[in-house]
Amino acid sequence: MVTLDKVAKAEVVEAIRQAEGLTSGEIRVHLKKKCGRDVLTEAKKVFSRLRMHRTKERNAVLIFIALESRQFAILGDRGIHERVGDLFWAETRDTMEACFTRGELKEGITAGVESVGKKLKAYFPRQAKDTDELSNTVTEDY
Ligand code: CA
Ligand code: CA
Repeated sequence: MVTLDKVAKAEVVEAIRQAEGLTSGEIRVHLKKKCGRDVLTEAKKVFSRLRMHRTKERNAVLIFIALESRQFAILGDRGIHERVGDLFWAETRDTMEACFTRGELKEGITAGVESVGKKLKAYFPRQAKDTDELSNTVTEDY
């Protein structure tokens, strides 16, 4: 998997913006080169470092991808995690993985963002007073 170029990154940010337009939930994407340890453990570390637990409804979701290690994880804060079952995360992973296998990194990420956005919308529909609690970013750590 190569990384995202500037244009692709902007497209992912736009996908996040659109997804968040329908929900109070928050989505972020983090790219890393390698993942030395268990990918979920690493994702949890990043989640905490990006202070993604700082949402009122604890409904932020991080899509974490270790590019060279070809591993990724989707991590939801407890507000969303306790509502969706493991099956949902597994299905989203499968959708993304199918793209990644074809070498379609950006498509895989945006598909993941859309899938998570739809689920967030079901449990946390957007309210008039919603704000962008976590900036819409693709962060990197090489
Ligand atoms: Ca929001
Ligand atoms: Ca946001």
